[in-house]
Amino acid sequence: MSNLPTLSTWALNIAPSPTLAVDAKAKSLIAAGEDVCGFAAGEPDFDTPVHIKEAAIKALQDGKTKYAPTPGIPPLRDAIAQKYTEFYQIPTKAAQVVVSPGGKFSCYLTILATCSAGDEVIIPAPFWVSYPEMVKLAGATPKQVLATDATGFKLTPAMLEAAITPRSKLLILNSPSNPTGAVYTPAELAALTAVAVKHNLYIMSDEIYEHLLYDGAKHVSPASFSAEARERTIIVSGFAKTFSMTGWRLGTIVAPAPIAKAVAELQSQMTSNATTFAQWGALAAYTEQAKTQAALDEMLIAFDRRRKFLHAELNKIPGINCLLSQGAFYLFPNISSFGLDDLKFCERLLDEHKVAAVHGSAFGAQGFMRISYATSDEILAKGVERLAKFCATL
Ligand code: GLU
Repeated sequence: MSNLPTLSTWALNIAPSPTLAVDAKAKSLIAAGEDVCGFAAGEPDFDTPVHIKEAAIKALQDGKTKYAPTPGIPPLRDAIAQKYTEFYQIPTKAAQVVVSPGGKFSCYLTILATCSAGDEVIIPAPFWVSYPEMVKLAGATPKQVLATDATGFKLTPAMLEAAITPRSKLLILNSPSNPTGAVYTPAELAALTAVAVKHNLYIMSDEIYEHLLYDGAKHVSPASFSAEARERTIIVSGFAKTFSMTGWRLGTIVAPAPIAKAVAELQSQMTSNATTFAQWGALAAYTEQAKTQAALDEMLIAFDRRRKFLHAELNKIPGINCLLSQGAFYLFPNISSFGLDDLKFCERLLDEHKVAAVHGSAFGAQGFMRISYATSDEILAKGVERLAKFCATL
């Protein structure tokens, strides 16, 4: 018997990421020669645009292989500040921008910079799987508030008011949403922001899907509503979803200067800087905007086509009810009518019909499943056919 001390409470209590776990299982089955339709990963199936890759290659060749300033290379921070100032009309200086190793790390830094033990963090469910675990790692307490398909997966101001206690510190918003694809209208978001201002909460606005919008939906940030909103809003985003750069690990944080400074100080102790040559590559997304827009337009056309196809096909399956959401690359069908636990449903779907999707309870919503349509039209069609066959057996 080993007599080693126990691992930390953090290590013992952390729930590993279920999105990554299901995706890894699907990928290992595919590697073993199985014909699996993978709907688990929140990862665009497109390659990174060539001009961004070429800029990173050039940076490597030019020797941009050393440490960078902790908050990011100056031209990239300038470009990001300019984007928020001009595109979103949120006055932003470079000092308010931090480039991190991934949107996920941006979220974690934001939570660490704002929350301590005893603080409560309000997390609207369905939520992205990592928020509650990050809150726990910060020693704070996640407080989930479920908004089902009955309210379009959106929190209402009354639901938010009811969840607030004297210990509430931070509200997490994520529009367009992972896992539902729901997009708050400017009026809905303004109403939630007003509640956060009234109760003096910080807002972490995860806007990683900001450019993946359909049906004319418009992205707004809580920071755009007023000076009071801006002083408490930390905008998290990144390059992964918009520019198909998941493996590059590049996230951003835009926050009031004192918060950006705190975030950068945390980052200085935790990882130094995001990979230097990757940042030089990402800069090309801004300096060569016409190419960037062309690549994004191509992705959006494909995503929109798949979104409509998937939505129509899902609703043809007896027992499935699916909203048509306006953002990201996910649909979140209701599968509760089958009377099967959603984890069991997804496990059987993978084992018996070789379709990988993530169970809704991983996102705090039992009775649903998340389907990512960031995959080819062929795989999408094949996977939905298999899903229909599986549902017919239930
Ligand atoms: N955010 C993506 C997803 O939800 C990537 C996996 C992860 O980090 O959770 O699938």
